[in-house]
Amino acid sequence: MSRQMTKAPPSAPEGPREAGEEPRLVFGDAWDYAPAPESPDHVTIAPRYDLFIGGAWRAPRSGRYFDTIDPASEAKLSEVAEANAADVDDAVRAARAAYETTWSKMKGSERAKYIFRVARAIQEKARELAIVESMDGGKPIKESRDVDVPLAAAHFFYHAGWADKLDYAFHGRRPRPLGVAGQIIPWNFPLLMAAWKIAPALACGNTVVLKPAETTPLTALLLARIVEEAELPPGVVNVVTGAGETGAALAGHPGVDKIAFTGSTEIGKRIQKALAGTRKRLTLELGGKAANIVFADAPIDQAVEGIVNGIYFNQGHVCCAGSRLLVEESVHDLVVRKLRDRVATLRLGDPLDKNTDVGAINSKAQLDKIRQLVEAGEAEGGERYSSSCALPQKGYWFPPTFFTGVSQSSRIAREEVFGPVLTVLTFRTPDEALEKANNTMYGLSAGVWTDKGAKIFWMAQRLKAGVVWGNTYNKFDPSSPFGGYKESGFGREGGRQGLSAYVELDG
Ligand code: NDP
Repeated sequence: MSRQMTKAPPSAPEGPREAGEEPRLVFGDAWDYAPAPESPDHVTIAPRYDLFIGGAWRAPRSGRYFDTIDPASEAKLSEVAEANAADVDDAVRAARAAYETTWSKMKGSERAKYIFRVARAIQEKARELAIVESMDGGKPIKESRDVDVPLAAAHFFYHAGWADKLDYAFHGRRPRPLGVAGQIIPWNFPLLMAAWKIAPALACGNTVVLKPAETTPLTALLLARIVEEAELPPGVVNVVTGAGETGAALAGHPGVDKIAFTGSTEIGKRIQKALAGTRKRLTLELGGKAANIVFADAPIDQAVEGIVNGIYFNQGHVCCAGSRLLVEESVHDLVVRKLRDRVATLRLGDPLDKNTDVGAINSKAQLDKIRQLVEAGEAEGGERYSSSCALPQKGYWFPPTFFTGVSQSSRIAREEVFGPVLTVLTFRTPDEALEKANNTMYGLSAGVWTDKGAKIFWMAQRLKAGVVWGNTYNKFDPSSPFGGYKESGFGREGGRQGLSAYVELDG
């Protein structure tokens, strides 16, 4: 398969140095990287994938398949079964049978062995999983290799450890599994979100039906193969691929005891309405518009790295992305200049090249949405800076971008872009930073950069966000609960708190 090679970044703008200003680094053509592509040669992507139901691969009753493509080249990778309501019904029945006959009856220490086996197999197949993740979703291989896949394995290891210790997780209460969990995941971290959902559900004794996103089904299907190879009892994990209708059929199925959804706030609300009045349990992990707050006393160079990681990691397709930068006014110009210099060095291109920092946008639809919001930002008077990096001819690409001179009310500062686009706002006092940070319908995450630990604690206590990072950003660990406030959803994933989403507590 021919792929676009990473282009060298252009020279960073140098500009005249003003009196007293620190010397500026000169980037650009002085040193170049040779392409370092990870070869997909040893990875076999089947021409067609069926549904994984009851431990077997089955053609969909719908008879229909849809293409999944590589967003970096627009080449077709495979075709994947489209599950209709009857397929979802089969999967839920298989999950119910497995729940009642084996999984809920099995000792926790036995369940742990299976979950542990899945974790080990993810590690063994790490390279294949990382390559397929980058090909199907467009993310740089260094992210899928170093973040997505190791964290997915870590989630299975962590929850394998809990499976026989649940009585200790809820002091004085006796946990019981819920039954069948329907799990609907998005396209930004396909394997990792599958792990976040499946691992705690299984550890707590539930069985699952997973619906991956339409544009990124492949690693969930590879995970189903791992489940098969690990010889989990048939029906404990079922994977039904398809689009929104498949997800709606799963959410609406009367045989499901719990729905766990990660995705847009709009669909989350729709699911919440559909479930209102039913006995089904629900957790929602939805959108975000996180404030990344930089105080004047922060180590500015580290903060700039944190800003870049916060918004350009995974092309900004991150629900907890630090997409609203709040900078103390006195260091605004310095931060913006350093940010512009740093953004100019980001290497955009082939996701399989190990030097690539910014990969492809996940889909044409997402690219159109990003373009539309960026146009709105310009129309509303924001000053746009975009890296002048060359964009490959084929595929879906958007250069790393930020806006200054933005008002809090502008769309680009309020709406989730879900792309490599940052807005920069300023503040003068911690109170003002706090007020602006909390002035959003979302509340998933935030970052605080300062030299003073006390200021981090002061801010963290007052920020209405489920996760607050201090002098770092986008750090994840299976033992650390993740989830939102307000329209970012409810329920937590990870840690002891995440287990409670998959158990009923007696006593
Ligand atoms: P969605 O919320 O539509 O997708 C999330 C998952 O839900 C996918 O598996 C999707 O299937 C499925 N789904 C879609 N419609 C329904 C439904 N009615 N009932 C049940 N499940 C459904 O996100 P999109 O992919 O459409 O992205 C739209 C926007 O959402 C993005 O531009 C971004 O701003 C935001 N987003 C936020 C995420 C987050 O984690 N905060 C994650 C993903 C998107 P399918 O993909 O096949 O349609």
